[in-house]
Amino acid sequence: MTAHFSGRLFGPALPGTGMAASGRWEGDMLRVAAGAVELAAPAAELRIDGAGFNAERVRVSWQSADGAYALFLEQPSERVAFNAGAPAPVALQLAAAGRKGRCTEARLRLGWALLGLFLLLPFLALAAFLWQADTVATWVAERVPPEQEARIGELTLAQVRTRMHLIETGPAAEAVRTVGARLTAGSRYRYRWYVADRPEVNAFAAPGGVVVVFAGLIRAADTPEELAGVLAHETAHVELRHSLKGAIKGLGLRALLALALGDLANTVAGDLAADLTEMKFSRDAEAEADQEGLQRLVAAGISPHGMPAFFDKLAKAEGGAAPALSILSTHPASAERMETLRREIAALPARSFEPLALDWVAVRESLVK
Ligand SMILES: [Zn+2]
Repeated sequence: MTAHFSGRLFGPALPGTGMAASGRWEGDMLRVAAGAVELAAPAAELRIDGAGFNAERVRVSWQSADGAYALFLEQPSERVAFNAGAPAPVALQLAAAGRKGRCTEARLRLGWALLGLFLLLPFLALAAFLWQADTVATWVAERVPPEQEARIGELTLAQVRTRMHLIETGPAAEAVRTVGARLTAGSRYRYRWYVADRPEVNAFAAPGGVVVVFAGLIRAADTPEELAGVLAHETAHVELRHSLKGAIKGLGLRALLALALGDLANTVAGDLAADLTEMKFSRDAEAEADQEGLQRLVAAGISPHGMPAFFDKLAKAEGGAAPALSILSTHPASAERMETLRREIAALPARSFEPLALDWVAVRESLVK
């Protein structure tokens, strides 16, 4: 009994789309009929392999006198029938083609899974970022190499220069540098201190140690210790990487991508300069900067009383209006913060501080127009 199997035959004597064909085994000879075409091919000359997407079909091909022929077995049942009468070498080839097909299929499935993961990954990262923006920003900030942070500072400074005139010589610039140097002795950052020729009572710190104090702030300070209080607070934002974290948070996923591509400096700096002067830190970050600033003042031998005194004065002057100073950005909490600062100062071991040896009158007058 010879099993017949049907398939589609392609070859030189057939239409381009092939023809329905019927095949059977006659000993070691494969016989295929398609319409008027009748072919015979010895089993030893057959080539059998998987075909089609996922190799779900079997292709039986051979070389005939008038060219190459191929019989496609589309259905599993046809393959079974073909196999049933096939001589041993053909059956072996067929089994091998089937295995190859299954392997391909497995690889493809894995491929789709990976592709799906790649497509999903940005969304997963975005979800993680939205849920855990602070945690992720901190995680990224901790992985920013110091040289990238310094570069962010340089780029930010370059952009700040295009937006405001920086006073780099004279008593005010020198006063800021002198006090700043005392507050940052031994820091891993190379600080640069600038006075912006602007009337607002403001100050900000860029990552990597760029600190800018507005002329308006220096004019509003009654003593150099009050300026020192602001500088200590801004220094703390740099040391605790608050500005960097804030910028990363603002950038969202772009920061992760930029970090992965090793180009965080350019990406962050572009956005940072734009909103640095208005950057709002969390209440926790401000409280943290107060603590760290206070410790820096004491360690530098500078009276910490100027810190709460200046902020208190500002809070009153602002009278509830939007605060211009980063230190007051958590405005409703500022009274509480001043209280906390005063309590902590009172808890310090009794100690007298040398007043800062600066001609404060001359510093302020140098900024009066
Ligand atoms: Zn602050």
